[in-house]
Amino acid sequence: MDISIIVPLYNEEESLPHLAEWIDRVMNQHHFDYEVIMVDDGSKDKSWSVVESLRASNPRYKGVKFRRNYGKSAALNVGFTHAQGDVVVTMDADLQDSPDEVPELYRMIMEEGYDLVSGWKKKRYDSKIAKNIPSKFFNWTTRKMSGIKLHDFNCGLKAYRHDVVKSIEVYGEMHRYIPVIAKWAGFSNIGEKVVQHRKREFGVTKFGMNRFVNGYLDLMSIMFMSKFGKQPMHVFGLWGSVSFLFGFGIVVVLVFRKALGLMNLSSSVLLPLAIFLATMGMMLFLAGFLGELICRNSPTRNEYLIEKVEL
Ligand code: UDP
Ligand code: MG
Repeated sequence: MDISIIVPLYNEEESLPHLAEWIDRVMNQHHFDYEVIMVDDGSKDKSWSVVESLRASNPRYKGVKFRRNYGKSAALNVGFTHAQGDVVVTMDADLQDSPDEVPELYRMIMEEGYDLVSGWKKKRYDSKIAKNIPSKFFNWTTRKMSGIKLHDFNCGLKAYRHDVVKSIEVYGEMHRYIPVIAKWAGFSNIGEKVVQHRKREFGVTKFGMNRFVNGYLDLMSIMFMSKFGKQPMHVFGLWGSVSFLFGFGIVVVLVFRKALGLMNLSSSVLLPLAIFLATMGMMLFLAGFLGELICRNSPTRNEYLIEKVEL
């Protein structure tokens, strides 16, 4: 199969029929062998009956329905596990992403050798204050922290090589950082394509302001897990030792000066600092050590993503 299109949806009953018609038109024009996986993230409207009727009239349509709302990341993750296409495309259900972009995304993966191509909503039709400005800042920090040169990390329209979606796992609010997760999994050939963006015609946006707080916390955990997830001692042990040695060094100096009668220990501000540094150091070291013990017991400690084997 050439293409799997994954559509996460939450209360999008009005958009779905239009989206399906548009996808079918583009796919048939280009003679693609395709499937559309609609993941209903616990919708409370009639979205699921729309999915069922699409499925009934066209076996290329597949549907998964969550019992309750788990979030876009969860919906994408389920789509990823079921996808069979050589190229997997994710697309929002609200008609803000255009299916017309899919053939070119497919070509970039198959012919230009990208592992992942992310859409870039260069001209964006969303509210300026609630979306456009905060998202510029969001993209800037993510670029700096991850070293991936994308303008628009959070674009719902993305295309992946089959192997990529089978090697990564998304949960929480991590869908914003899929390029970061993919890079960490070893897929570093990440490209970008300017895509058409449109105004939301039906329904309302599902993401409020809390996405910023949660989003940044998720970025921290991704960066931290990718850098130190397998070796917590390397970060905690290092900084613990540094802090402890500083504290200890100060104590040694103080004791010497006291012994030589050069100073009165009780009036020195250095003493509490020394105690603080030494205690901090031991705590950090201990955190690293506990982290290592937990890693040792993790059932996934020896799971690696293997690209090729010849045995
Ligand atoms: N979505 C979802 N689960 C959620 C929230 C959103 O599956 O909990 C879907 C939603 O139906 C849409 C896509 O994710 O297809 C993007 O959501 P939305 O358009 O609300 O985000 P925005 O474009 O405003 O950033
Ligand atoms: Mg939208």
